[in-house]
Amino acid sequence: MSHLMPTYPPQPVTFVRGQGTELFDESGRRYLDFLSGLAVTSLGHAHPAVAEALSEQARTLLHVSNLYGTRPQHEVAGTLDRLIGGGGKVFFCNSGAEANECAIKLARKWGGRGRHVVVSAYGSFHGRTLATLHATGQPQKHEAFQPLPEGFRHVAWNDLDALEAAMDPSVAAVLLEPVQGEGGVNPASAEYFRGVRRLCDERQVLLAVDEVQTGLGRTGRWFGFQHFDVRPDVVTMAKALGNGVPIGACWARAEVADAFRPGDHATTFGGQPLATAAAAAVLATMEAERLPERAAAAGERLSKALEALPEVAGVRGLGLLLAACLTEPVAKDVAARCLQAGLVLNAVTDDALRLAPPLTVSDAEIDEAVGVLGRVLSERRPVTPGAHG
Ligand SMILES: *Cc1c(COP(=O)(O)O)cnc(C)c1O
Repeated sequence: MSHLMPTYPPQPVTFVRGQGTELFDESGRRYLDFLSGLAVTSLGHAHPAVAEALSEQARTLLHVSNLYGTRPQHEVAGTLDRLIGGGGKVFFCNSGAEANECAIKLARKWGGRGRHVVVSAYGSFHGRTLATLHATGQPQKHEAFQPLPEGFRHVAWNDLDALEAAMDPSVAAVLLEPVQGEGGVNPASAEYFRGVRRLCDERQVLLAVDEVQTGLGRTGRWFGFQHFDVRPDVVTMAKALGNGVPIGACWARAEVADAFRPGDHATTFGGQPLATAAAAAVLATMEAERLPERAAAAGERLSKALEALPEVAGVRGLGLLLAACLTEPVAKDVAARCLQAGLVLNAVTDDALRLAPPLTVSDAEIDEAVGVLGRVLSERRPVTPGAHG
C-alpha cells in the first residue's frame, strides 16, 4: 500500500536522474522531458549553475527567517523588478498558489472595505488553496470544497464585454493568465489584454497577471503580458523561478505594494536564502543565455513540426508553452503511449497534448520528440485491455 494520499493518479514510472532535457528511470531507460515538471525545469535537469548555487548556499546560510536580512532575496527582487519593467516591489513565498494568495490579499488591502472582489476567467487556473481554488474558473473543481471564501467572480475568457458587465464598485482586481495553462493552453488576444488594461484604468481596478506558468521566458518573452504591450499592476510567478526549488513571488507596483504594512502578510520560508540563491542562478543563466529568445525560436520549430503531423489538427500557445490539438479526443491515451515510447508530455484536455520542454531544448531534441510523437500517433490503435504494459 502506498502511504501517499490518493490525490494523484497512479504513477506509471519512477524517475531517478535527469540531465538537460533527458530523464532516466530506475532501469536506466532514457526519456525526453517535454513537460519540464509542469513548466518548472526551464533550464533542464541538474543544471550546473543551479546545483552550484544550492550547494554553495547550503554550506553558507540556509535560513534565518524574515525577521533578519539575507542577501539573495534582495538581488532576486531587484532582478525581477527590472525584468518586469521597474517601479515595483516583491513578496517572496513558496508556490504559485501562495503568490496568488498574496495578490488577493494585497488587492483587498489596497481596495479597502467594500472593494474586495477579484474577477477571473472561466477556464483559468490559479491554485488549490481555498481562495485560489475559488479564483480558479472551473466550477467543477469547487463543488466538493464548499463553502469557499467569498469575493470571487468569473467571466468568459477573451470577452471584454463580459468583463465590463462584471465590473461594479466592489471589484478590486482582475486576475488573468496571459495564456491559460492548465485550462488547455489558451492564449489571450492582445486586444483583450489591452481592453482589460483600459477598463481597469477607467474603474481604478488592479490588473493582476498570473505568470506562474507563463513567466520567466516560457512564452518567448520574459513575461506573457509583454506580448500584449500592457503594464500590469501585479504579477505573480513561481514554477520556473527556482528550476525545481520551491519558490514563488508576487510583484506589485510600488504604490500598490505599499498598501501592505509590517504584519499584514508573511511566510516562514518565503524568500529564504536557499530558494532565492537558486532563483538568482536561474535568472542569471536565463539572461546570459538569452533563453526567452531561444524559447521563441525553439517554439516556432516545435510548433511547425507538430503542425506537419497528420493527426494534429492545430497548435496553439506561445513560445514553448504549446498544445497540439488532435483530430480525436485521445490525448490521455497518446500521452501514456508517448511515455512508454520515451517521451514525457501530458494531456491538458481530452483532445490536446501540452508540450513545454526546457527552454534549453536543442533542435535535435525537438526533432526527436516530434518523431516519437508522430510514430505513436500513426501506430495508435484502439486500446485493447492487457494488450500492452
Ligand atoms: C501551477 C499554477 C498555479 C499554482 O501553482 P502551485 O505552485 O501549484 O501552487 C497557479 N497559477 C497558474 C497559472 C499555474 O499554472
